[in-house]
Amino acid sequence: MTIERLMISLRGIVGADGIVVDDAEMQPYLVSWRDNWRGKSPAVVRPRSTAEVSEVVRACGKFGMKIVPQGGRTGVTGASQPHDDSSEIVLSLERMNKVRSVDVDNDTMTVEAGCVLQTIRARAAEADRIFPLLLGAVGSCMIGGNISTNAGGVNVIRYGSTRSLVAGLEVVLADGRVWDGLRGLRKDNAGYDLKHLFIGAEGTLGIITAAVVRLFPKPRSEITAFLATSSPRDALRLLVRAKEAFAEQLTAFELIQRLCIDVTCKRIPGVSNPVAGPSPWYVLMEVSGQSSDEITRGLVEEALQAAIDAGEIVDATIASSMQQSQMLWKMRESIAEAHKHEGTSFKHDISVPTSRVPDFLDQIEPKLVALIPGIRMFTFGHLGDGNLHFNPLIAEGATARPNDLQAVNTLVHDLVAAFGGSISAEHGIGLLRRDELVRYKSDVELQMMAGLKLLFDPQNILNPGKVIAPELLAREAAVITRSRAEGN
Ligand SMILES: Cc1cc2nc3c(=O)[nH]c(=O)nc-3n(C[C@H](O)[C@H](O)[C@H](O)COP(=O)(O)OP(=O)(O)OC[C@H]3O[C@@H](n4cnc5c(N)ncnc54)[C@H](O)[C@@H]3O)c2cc1C
Repeated sequence: MTIERLMISLRGIVGADGIVVDDAEMQPYLVSWRDNWRGKSPAVVRPRSTAEVSEVVRACGKFGMKIVPQGGRTGVTGASQPHDDSSEIVLSLERMNKVRSVDVDNDTMTVEAGCVLQTIRARAAEADRIFPLLLGAVGSCMIGGNISTNAGGVNVIRYGSTRSLVAGLEVVLADGRVWDGLRGLRKDNAGYDLKHLFIGAEGTLGIITAAVVRLFPKPRSEITAFLATSSPRDALRLLVRAKEAFAEQLTAFELIQRLCIDVTCKRIPGVSNPVAGPSPWYVLMEVSGQSSDEITRGLVEEALQAAIDAGEIVDATIASSMQQSQMLWKMRESIAEAHKHEGTSFKHDISVPTSRVPDFLDQIEPKLVALIPGIRMFTFGHLGDGNLHFNPLIAEGATARPNDLQAVNTLVHDLVAAFGGSISAEHGIGLLRRDELVRYKSDVELQMMAGLKLLFDPQNILNPGKVIAPELLAREAAVITRSRAEGN
């Protein structure tokens, strides 16, 4: 009865075409990109405006319904799907997809949360600017999702992660109030910088409805090089050389293990290895600049020749056209898709200090081989940020044992922790890493996180059960209640 009244209320807010209740039509909204998370929901609600989002949140609050905010559903931690008990509606921002304005002289663009990243990048290009966030899911992920996961991608080494690309936010809070923080300011120290609380919060603290994002001058030249190297240690030496040679002109530095290339060439049509002869590791490097292609290319050639002389690389291909460069990037961006089809794997999105990446890889491989004989190393990622997608595959034709996943995760993440690293460099926590978080964060950190959640969302209606484990939240709520009762 209550649910029926809520549905009538929601239909009244978003209109008949703004709500999906048919099981078959809802399916795409309930399944994750990798098809490893599936949920159930009474409805998918698709508002068209901030006012509608606010009203939907108020209505849900009134009827005790929980909400999963959703963008392009490319998240990989199970954070954008509902649980399987139909206790949450999905609130899709997909119809809030307008670019509200572009302020070229201020280098900012105001966009709604449902704008697809590729659209934002295209609009920036029309204004002779770039929006530098770039990741494999660029054609499907939405800026609200990017901000809520604080997405990284391939250009972090130069432009930082999404956090550094956001100047302002508009957010609907858990009680339906709207915070208009759409300021396009470069400097604003007037109190706490609240936007940062919502960036990377995975929809647990508020619903982002719009953002002011930062634009940058379009580079006049972009040189992409694909390099063969003997080891991560040599790749690190090359990285140090490239940073010294190019400073902030170094816009990408990706480390790729041989198996990633082999699998991608096998699985993705039109992709081939541009470097003759096998190599255990490769680097995809991009240097961008305001000088002509010829000048930037000359500088890259000079640096690469020095790297060959120093033994840091053994072979190099420099893209000679935009088309070749795009092919190299297609290969890099297709690795995740190719990996998806290669059988059982153990996925990790880790970071350690960049200088420690080779040591980490040296130490983890023998430990894993001892644990799971025949395991195949499948590592790629953003070496420039110390961030690896460390996704080993089980031996071909083998089956994982019931405890393998947990054993591998503990082994990898314990070593990451010993290196002072993070168990989630850019993908977030969601459901995937929620319970592990407790092992790797201090009590004080966990208490602050739970305290923030309770402050912003006391009824726990926004993406409940994601990021923070329910027991942790209940414990912190009890501490606060006790402390208030005792008058502390
Ligand atoms: C092929 C591929 C490559 C990828 N490469 C990278 C990469 O290089 N770097 C990287 O960081 N990630 C990468 N990802 C992961 C993913 O693309 C990012 O996490 C992306 O930012 C998610 O955006 P989305 O719109 O799909 O969000 P969704 O998956 O829909 O949601 C992600 C989270 O954000 C919340 N959310 C969504 N919209 C809002 C909103 N408006 N307000 C509040 N909360 C909201 C959801 O509740 C959920 O918690 C990749 C994924 C794929 C499939």
